[in-house]
Amino acid sequence: MIMPANVKTDKTYPIPDSMKAWVLMEQGELSFSEKPVPMPGKAEVLVRIDAVAICATDLEIIYHGPPALIRGGSPYNKNFTPGHEYMGTVVALGPGVDEFGIGERVTVEIHAGCGQCKRCREGMYTSCHNYGKNYGDVDKGHRANGFTTDGGFCEYQVNNVNTMIPIADSMSDEEATLVVTAGTAMYGLTELGGLVAGESVVVTGPGPIGLLGVAVAKALGAQPVILTGTRDNRLEIGRKLGADHVVNIRREDPVEAVRSIMNGKGVDYVVESSGAAGSFNEAAQMINRGGKICLAAFPSEQVEVDLAHIVRNNIYVYGIRGEGKSATHRAEAFMRQKRFDATLVHTHTFPLAELPEAIRYAKDRVDDAIKVVVKNDRGRDS
Ligand SMILES: [Zn+2]
Ligand SMILES: [Zn+2]
Repeated sequence: MIMPANVKTDKTYPIPDSMKAWVLMEQGELSFSEKPVPMPGKAEVLVRIDAVAICATDLEIIYHGPPALIRGGSPYNKNFTPGHEYMGTVVALGPGVDEFGIGERVTVEIHAGCGQCKRCREGMYTSCHNYGKNYGDVDKGHRANGFTTDGGFCEYQVNNVNTMIPIADSMSDEEATLVVTAGTAMYGLTELGGLVAGESVVVTGPGPIGLLGVAVAKALGAQPVILTGTRDNRLEIGRKLGADHVVNIRREDPVEAVRSIMNGKGVDYVVESSGAAGSFNEAAQMINRGGKICLAAFPSEQVEVDLAHIVRNNIYVYGIRGEGKSATHRAEAFMRQKRFDATLVHTHTFPLAELPEAIRYAKDRVDDAIKVVVKNDRGRDS
């Protein structure tokens, strides 16, 4: 591919003119088509995508639309490529980029804020006030891969240098796709105060964010870490990732179980990652006075909240969006130091061409699937 003179390339990594890319058609329908390889602009690099994990939010986007926002509206029939939890190899450097080298393995955060708004200036780029303004004369430079701009279910993608995290050589492609998920858990705990050593934490919902929430809380020194959920196999993985106690809420009342583990007292923090409708009020009953609740998942319907209980007990509530404040770098540091084994959460791998089958595994939890990864041929074997 002919790149402009101010874009650096290397013949070790030849770049084709076009690439294979999955495109979202009608709701729930993806088509494997051909797209031009995108060109990196200022402060951007071109990443050859080696592996990409499927997230519950991808399923939301593919089947329901939000939180994707393409040209101000729904993502259907707009030649849009979803996918946001990807990693790969740097193959071209846009104008002015010297932060990365060609051939470097990286994993990428989803959000590049506009860099111009108040929140971006505060490091809260996942809450960028210009979210979704990527097109035409309102292009503010904001990108959210697979949400507001093309994502990772393809062979190449451009990324702002601020969204990239170099990964250890010892880390497999599959493990590297999990760094952002761990980063999201880290961001939640950072927002709760971060210094959780010796403090008690409940994580509700053993999905990927909940399981890695357990791992990150434990790595930060929390004690005890309690995980609640409905599936024994996932609770068992939670134990391996650092949960001191697990509670199967099909067999036990979660509030009573937590209070009994805590000798009648509540916990300091709850990281709510189940998105179940009743989970917020349960979290409020598990927490001690002055404790903090982080909402890392959301129910699809509106729920009733016992506000009087929140106010009378001085409970703090935090909504968190994505992987803000460079939390992903801190998560990668834990993974690099082998503080927990994120690969326990990865269960299945498919080639990129079999994305619909991979999605079926993730959506229907076929064969107890948790994190399903799709790989390009050129990614390395783990
Ligand atoms: Zn995700
Ligand atoms: Zn911004």
